[in-house]
Amino acid sequence: MRKYLLIVVLCIVSAAQAQVTVKAERNPVWKKIYRGEATKINDLVNTKLDVRFDFDKAWMYGKEWLTLKPHFYPTDSLTLDAKGMAINEVAMFNNGKKTPLKYAYDSLNLRIILDRTYKNNEKYTIYIDYISRPNEYKGEGSAAITEAKGLYFINPRGEEKDKPTQIWTQGETESNSVWMPTIDKPNQKTTEQITMTVPSKYVTLSNGLLVNQKKNSDGTRTDTWKMDLPHAPYLFFMGVGEYSIIKDSYEGKEVSYYVEKEYAPVARRIFGNTPEMIKFYAKVLGMDFQWPKYSQIVGRDYVSGAMENTTATLHQESAYQNARQLVDGNAWEEVIAHELFHQWFGDLVTTESWSNITVNESFADLSETLWDEYKYGKDAGDEHNYEAMEQYLQSGSENKDLVRFYYRDKEDLFDAVSYNKGGRILNMLRNYLGDSAFFRSLNKYLTDNKFKTGEAQQLRLAFEAVTGQDLNWYWNQWYYGSGNPVVKIDYNYNDSGGKAMVIIQQTQQSDKVFKLPMAIDVYNGADKKRYKVWMNHKIDTFTFNYTKRPDLINVDGDKILLWQKTDNKTADNYKAQLKYAPLYLDRRESYTYFGKHHMPELLQGLKDKYAGLRSYTLDLIGEDSATVNNAATLQEIENIAKTDPDKKVKAKSIEILAATADEKYKPLFEQNVKDSSYSVAGAALEGLNMLDSANAYALAKTFVNDARGKLGEVVAGVIMLNGTENDFDFILKQYQQTPPGQQKFEATAAFCEYLTKINDVDKIKRGIDEIVAFKNMIPETYRSFTDQIINSALQRVASAKGSEVKAYIDNAVK
Ligand SMILES: [Zn+2]
Repeated sequence: MRKYLLIVVLCIVSAAQAQVTVKAERNPVWKKIYRGEATKINDLVNTKLDVRFDFDKAWMYGKEWLTLKPHFYPTDSLTLDAKGMAINEVAMFNNGKKTPLKYAYDSLNLRIILDRTYKNNEKYTIYIDYISRPNEYKGEGSAAITEAKGLYFINPRGEEKDKPTQIWTQGETESNSVWMPTIDKPNQKTTEQITMTVPSKYVTLSNGLLVNQKKNSDGTRTDTWKMDLPHAPYLFFMGVGEYSIIKDSYEGKEVSYYVEKEYAPVARRIFGNTPEMIKFYAKVLGMDFQWPKYSQIVGRDYVSGAMENTTATLHQESAYQNARQLVDGNAWEEVIAHELFHQWFGDLVTTESWSNITVNESFADLSETLWDEYKYGKDAGDEHNYEAMEQYLQSGSENKDLVRFYYRDKEDLFDAVSYNKGGRILNMLRNYLGDSAFFRSLNKYLTDNKFKTGEAQQLRLAFEAVTGQDLNWYWNQWYYGSGNPVVKIDYNYNDSGGKAMVIIQQTQQSDKVFKLPMAIDVYNGADKKRYKVWMNHKIDTFTFNYTKRPDLINVDGDKILLWQKTDNKTADNYKAQLKYAPLYLDRRESYTYFGKHHMPELLQGLKDKYAGLRSYTLDLIGEDSATVNNAATLQEIENIAKTDPDKKVKAKSIEILAATADEKYKPLFEQNVKDSSYSVAGAALEGLNMLDSANAYALAKTFVNDARGKLGEVVAGVIMLNGTENDFDFILKQYQQTPPGQQKFEATAAFCEYLTKINDVDKIKRGIDEIVAFKNMIPETYRSFTDQIINSALQRVASAKGSEVKAYIDNAVK
């Protein structure tokens, strides 16, 4: 699964502020509950379903033939998860004959008394006739998944005019038992057959292959999907809707993309790298794609980011990007890579318990870095790795173990530790052992455990078997422990004695001392000497002899360690680092230093070979008014605005020029406002608005039907500033479409200002509803800060619009 993208809200407040607002629960009960692997009494063998949908009631009528066997000990009973259902019939099914069975049902579990005691070499099949009623079931959601209905009917009665009717399911963690009785635990695996009867205008998607289609006389069609390979119940999937199916292939297997008609022309530009990704992952893992096909589908109103259902990945609507958005690059590509990698780590070898979710999610997280590195180069991979680490460091989760046997709710495990930190821990291990040992070990883990389950210890054993090394220390430190090193690095040079000392001190608050193998590179000009050292104590000093004082001593030469550091290098060290040390982070650290100290060397970042670092440099320049108002700097930025091949870099440079409100850039803005990239066009419109807002408003009105991303924001901003009552629909839609995060937070104040200027109370109320909905979506950690600002903006609307609006706002925020 890929988390819902609320993580972008992280940048609203600093980590320090976030920590203050985290409330500590005092001695909660969950801290005493050990959550191990679920006990296996019966094992699932095969699941056969025959379902029809009642769109009017949002119900599903199901018939199920569930084949099981006792796991080891003989048993005469079976308990199934079956959430919120109506159970019509439970029977033993034998040779086509049904024999009724005694059962008890409490709306969560179906307890069945079998007709006799079965031994573990005896299979039996239970028949269940039931109704799934997802909207009547009240399950708990989480930050990762906002609801737990399992089965979702989207616009089932067709009442919302701009929304298609769709059905999709979301199983992880234990929600598929809302629509099929099963043993809803990740340590169960079953083969599967699902037969769905739907109105014939719809297509269906499920796991495995479509083995039969039958037209019925009543305008419906019956599709049968079959999966001959066993997988976990939470990975079962059904999708129904009006979709165009775009087909690619990988070594004769279907690779397909289910998108709404509007996106059919761009589907390959969004998903088209999938076959190459499969090929790449199969190659590095030394294990081919094991499933019969791979489809991806986009669901409306999806409750998570994306989900790796076996052979049938579901994406949220953010996957949809039109041709102009794609000019800036595919914003969803890493998610596509992430879900695909789960087909090995998660679907083929599945975590045995939620406590061990790292064996699913940390690998999927790592796969994003691997793909970026392979496809777009080492800088791109390193950038992704670094940004993911920063998100973890800012998440305030230093008290959580990666393998976590104690937790409040299983949904809480889908966090920055299981994803971001776990992905970095694997990447460090890859660096420590070397690529070939790392991937050989992954191959062993997959080979030994395929179609079964895994836990972190099995991973360790695979690595130990391949490398011949004892790795308990690494697992104890990173998998079964929490936190990360916080270090201070100091340098001491004694020219007369010809000795350099590097003093590294771990300053994290806990008593824990991290064991850190690392490279220290000593540079004399371009001549680099590498020393491999281990940090084993709270403070370690490493001494190097020299005849000429080194230009740079570069600790963690591979820039791979998961730590927070204060590195007390000099300006000259950073100049040498930029010149000689090759990595993304080497250069980034230099630019950061130059930016912080207002050094002209920062301008070298505008010529960095990697677009991400040119963009980062522009951020640093933009934040520093002294640097930005320098004529030479502006000249450089203007050059970039005119020539940079990367649209995002170009856009950022135009944004900086826009902020100067200098007439001389007007032709540049006028030219770029027509650019195919929304980012570039948006930045240029921002510039024009600074110079001539009436003209910008007129232009913005012509863009409203094709304005997304940055252009959408700027158009909305310009229209909100100058707009009238008639612009409401566009402004509201734009606000709705802005993903929750920093931008939306900023747009909220402008939206409130606009609401003070219009008079239609119904419109004002609709605007308030949207603002309050966003306000409530912001994670608890940031709420005390964001609520204060949003509430005061709403109060400005209240005071401008009188008592009815005031009462409405008071009620909405209460
Ligand atoms: Zn995932």
